[in-house]
Amino acid sequence: MINPSSRAIACKASVTQKLNELMEQKIAADEFVYNLTSGQLSTRPLEDFIQSIKKQSHFLKSYQYSPVAGLPELRDKFLRRHFEKRQIDQSYEELEYDCVIGHGSKQALFNLFGAFINAGDEVILFSPYWTSYPEMIQLWGGTPMIIEAQGFDSFTPQLSEIEKLMGPKTKFIILNSPNNPTGIHYSKDWMCEFAEFMQQYPEVMIISDELYSDLWYFDPAPRYYYEFDSSLLDRTFIIDGISKSFASTGLRIGHCLGPKRLLNSAKKIQSQSTSGANSLIQRALLDFDFDKLEDFHKNLRIRLRESSHVLRESFRKFGLAHCWYQTQSAFYFYLDLSRTPVFEKYQKQNQGDGDLSEQICMDLLSTEQVAIVPGASFGQKHSARLCLALDAVVLEEALERLCRFLNATNS
Ligand code: PLP
Repeated sequence: MINPSSRAIACKASVTQKLNELMEQKIAADEFVYNLTSGQLSTRPLEDFIQSIKKQSHFLKSYQYSPVAGLPELRDKFLRRHFEKRQIDQSYEELEYDCVIGHGSKQALFNLFGAFINAGDEVILFSPYWTSYPEMIQLWGGTPMIIEAQGFDSFTPQLSEIEKLMGPKTKFIILNSPNNPTGIHYSKDWMCEFAEFMQQYPEVMIISDELYSDLWYFDPAPRYYYEFDSSLLDRTFIIDGISKSFASTGLRIGHCLGPKRLLNSAKKIQSQSTSGANSLIQRALLDFDFDKLEDFHKNLRIRLRESSHVLRESFRKFGLAHCWYQTQSAFYFYLDLSRTPVFEKYQKQNQGDGDLSEQICMDLLSTEQVAIVPGASFGQKHSARLCLALDAVVLEEALERLCRFLNATNS
């Protein structure tokens, strides 16, 4: 008998599979579904960027292999831009920083875990987390060590909780600010304290996943610990990409910035898996003037601010203000289902303390045609993620249906 590897068996498929199947059935039956599950913007990329892709599509080199780590000029462009944006007082040359461009930031992360995790190594992350972190860590033989961040603390982890998990096996700690799935970013004060805290652990590397860093819509803008202590850059990896900031999830370009001496191992992993990333898009990115993104982001911020306002007013209108918190960035809201009136009904029907988020999300889709992602994907029970990147009118309709469902207490 042919069996999958134990690694593949241990790898969890998406918990949203059943939900997606029901959604597809509904769409095939011509039913309208309010799809709030998306992890992407519903906006076309900037026209200038599209023109750069068109222009580069005429060159033979756009269809040929690129160097494993990416086009050197584009790597420099990413490095220069990042160091300028974060106002780091030393240059990337002085710090001997490098950049590896991959097929999305997901690959950049996968490379990193592959390059550094040995069996039994531990990686600290905070729940609710981006769904792929723990799976990727485990695929490479590591152990995710999870700290539950609370809505009460604006989903910001307590340093005292991190301290409890730090040990000789700790390899990485992952920060994701702005955060998927909570739509918050950590405060400047927290980042300053984190910088100081990390000085006690010189052997632990830090991954700063900054994929949503351009998508904040309420001041203050996100800040990063290494802006306050640049010595930490010596063991930091910065993850970024074009999926969210260029509204281009399908083009699959992401990158990792980090100390050259360490990044070489990640590059080796990439060289034996996919080789260099998409040449056409790399060449288009090289051609494209990144300053043009400013207006694009300004407009996105206006839209996301409006969406967050629609959310707030819907929750207020339906007496659910106690379930609301102010989001500031990315385009998500994380809903604690256990605080909503409908939850009691589900609790009565189910004995034990199993997670009810999937059942609640399935019923919501069946009865109200609203699809949201169950919290099991993000490591917290009885919760769900909503995407706010929808047209305001459609979002308002979807939220009205959602709130009606959340308020239904009769069995
Ligand atoms: N990191 C976070 C926090 C994400 O939300 C995602 C995608 O949603 C990724 C990484 C991977 O993004 P991509 O591979 O599209 O660059």
